Amino acid sequence: MTDKYDALKLAAQNSIDNAYSPYSKIKIGAAVLASSGKIYTGANIENASYGATICAERTAIVKAMSENEKYIEAIAITGDINDYAFPCGICRQVMSEFMSKDSIVFVSGKDREWKTFKLKELLPNSFDFYDDIKGR
Ligand code: ZN
Repeated sequence: MTDKYDALKLAAQNSIDNAYSPYSKIKIGAAVLASSGKIYTGANIENASYGATICAERTAIVKAMSENEKYIEAIAITGDINDYAFPCGICRQVMSEFMSKDSIVFVSGKDREWKTFKLKELLPNSFDFYDDIKGR
């Protein structure tokens, strides 16, 4: 059965190959479904100065928001790893800036067995003002 999120999951999967990860060797792909209905993709982009590394999720979110999207409806994250490609703490915080607490987060590993969460499950009691500013 297909649904409207199949294209999102496939876009995340196809983004894995764009990862630049000479240090961790871990390749992650992400895709966001933005408010316009357009999908934006991202991959992890590492740096010799490790702190400058940008995760796949934030790459995709920043691409969308810098193209005048208003919010992110859903995100899919996957990678060529055995475990599920759960977002790190920084990415969860960035997601809470542009996604409602009930937004959907799809996560899988290399077997592409997708788990589905709401953002509030991954970042409970979050520090954000999304509900206050989404009407801006
Ligand atoms: Zn991250």
